[in-house]
Amino acid sequence: MAEDAENKEIKEAADRLKNYGWKNITDSDRKTIMEYAEEYMEFLDMAKTEREAVEVARDLAVSCGFRDIDTVERLQPGDKVFGINREKSVYLAVIGREPLTEGFQAVGAHIDAPRLDLKQNPLYEDSGLALLKTHYYGGIKKYQWTTIPLALHGVVVLTDGTTVRVNIGEDPEDPVFLVTDLLPHLSAKQNVRKVADGVPAEKLNLMAGSIPLADADSENVKKNILAILKEKYGMEEEDFRSAEIEAVPAMKARSLGLDSSMVAAYGQDDRVCAFPALTALLRLEDAPRTSLCILTDKEEIGSVGNTGMESRNFELFLIKLLEKSGITSPYALQKMLSASRALSADVTAAYDPTYPEVMEKNNAAYMGKGISIKKYTGARGKSGASDANAEYVAYVRGIFEKEGVAYQSSELGKVDEGGGGTIAYILANRGMDVVDCGVPVHSMHSPYESASKYDIYAAFRAYKAFLGSM
Ligand code: MN
Ligand code: MN
Repeated sequence: MAEDAENKEIKEAADRLKNYGWKNITDSDRKTIMEYAEEYMEFLDMAKTEREAVEVARDLAVSCGFRDIDTVERLQPGDKVFGINREKSVYLAVIGREPLTEGFQAVGAHIDAPRLDLKQNPLYEDSGLALLKTHYYGGIKKYQWTTIPLALHGVVVLTDGTTVRVNIGEDPEDPVFLVTDLLPHLSAKQNVRKVADGVPAEKLNLMAGSIPLADADSENVKKNILAILKEKYGMEEEDFRSAEIEAVPAMKARSLGLDSSMVAAYGQDDRVCAFPALTALLRLEDAPRTSLCILTDKEEIGSVGNTGMESRNFELFLIKLLEKSGITSPYALQKMLSASRALSADVTAAYDPTYPEVMEKNNAAYMGKGISIKKYTGARGKSGASDANAEYVAYVRGIFEKEGVAYQSSELGKVDEGGGGTIAYILANRGMDVVDCGVPVHSMHSPYESASKYDIYAAFRAYKAFLGSM
């Protein structure tokens, strides 16, 4: 290409990027963005826990022609399959035209979110009140979880193998649960403690009842709660031992701002990437390479366990893809992984003008400017970073620029201010090319996070373009 023409092309690409954002979109784009956000908000309300997210993903996938991989004998290009890992994570694939050993394109997000889990012996009575003990899950600022309406979601598994689903607090007719806090009048000592110690973890107890059972001698209120649990769920107190019950904010997702340009909701880390990742795969028109969507559990506590990204159950899904495509070489799995590319679809911190002091303006992600590529994560001298190779970042931004997807490049806050990680390093350790690429959010890990509808739709377009690329 002649130098002049080349310069012109570079300038045009730069101008396009500068012009991204709300002010440059057409009315019809705006309508599309708003409609997609409505779908997303519905998803948020249906899928507040990892188990619920898996169920919703399975239903959507089945309605789009995906089949459980274990029911499929042989895979052909164009086939759509999913594998569910213990009801808490799900892997979905569209088989491409290229051989699987040439690698796949994957977008991976997590579907667990910070919350309060009930302990295994949660219920007790004190001073005429029934309470439930909790153990918080993930990185929370504990004071944020007091005096907000909480709903209980989860399962109680009985020894006969029956799984009883629990969901109390979402229906407007339902009661809610609550962690109390001190009144300001008696907070003199609490007020001078460090914010981190303001509400100790063992004070995150849920108010659960106050009516005593008429004919019991002691612990009357607790006995009444147990009687209600028996009637409603057929469970005994001991059954809490094999229960997974999560207290999550009972608030619904809402549009935020007078212009309704943002979404405020619980659990947007990382459902704001999980929903675009899922819908990008479900709506993929063409898969030259095999395309995957990974929705994983336990990211908030280190991606551990057999449902987290570290789990070898992910490899098992890949082995099934290979075997059912007729590839049985012992090296096929590693060959495929090393030739594969992924986007670690996780949120990043959006620049918050109320707290500019933790951000470095030139390398912050801004709300309403599109999806953000984070070349590296980590903290203190990139320690523990998953650092994508420049060649790979060029490949990814090339896709976005070609498709006209709004994107920015950022890192999480000022150097030495803090830091964070995602599932990226786990995929990278397996040999894949991977870069973090997600939606900027405000108030991450709080009970009510916010994100821009513009960026949410940009994520959908970005993931779809990536999945459909060679
Ligand atoms: Mn996350
Ligand atoms: Mn997180």
